[in-house]
Amino acid sequence: MALVYLLTGSNKGNCITLLKQAQVNIVQKVGNIIAYSKFYESEAWGKEDQANFVNQVLIVETLLAPLAVLKETQTIEDLLGRVRTEKWGSRTMDIDLLFYNDLRMDTERLTLPHPYLHQRRFTLVPLVALRKNLLHPVWKKTVKVLLEECEDELGVWVY
Ligand code: ATP
Ligand code: CA
Ligand code: CA
Repeated sequence: MALVYLLTGSNKGNCITLLKQAQVNIVQKVGNIIAYSKFYESEAWGKEDQANFVNQVLIVETLLAPLAVLKETQTIEDLLGRVRTEKWGSRTMDIDLLFYNDLRMDTERLTLPHPYLHQRRFTLVPLVALRKNLLHPVWKKTVKVLLEECEDELGVWVY
């Protein structure tokens, strides 16, 4: 059994309903959710001329291998109406793998931990609220320290 940390995000459609539908699908296809962050609203990162996002971090117990988790989460994105157009554009559902145990991997299809995690307050704020002492296996710092050092200035607040 592995612990996979997932970040769900939506800024198109009924975001809260979509995030809840993602939870149901994640339980069915990936594994039990052992912890949930609150829903957080955040200003869009990377491509800022779009609606705010709602995000949530989920800690999931899974029997699946990392690439199998990715495949299932992409299926869930499609199921929830994801249309893949421009990079970092608006979307009904995005599900990123943040951590898979303390595994490090860097392939074309999957990088773990997620490569931008330490640069994004919308990811670090919910992570710190759930597991502030979680150690990042590449940076060798806790997520709390990564948040303190993060230079991202975009707003993130509890929805
Ligand atoms: P970002 O990854 O910067 O948050 P994004 O979520 O908008 O951007 P997507 O279009 O959803 O990017 O995904 C592009 C590709 O990223 C996916 O097809 C997947 O193969 C790859 N990928 C690499 N590492 C990860 C990861 N840790 N979690 C999810 N997808 C990943
Ligand atoms: Ca993403
Ligand atoms: Ca993604």
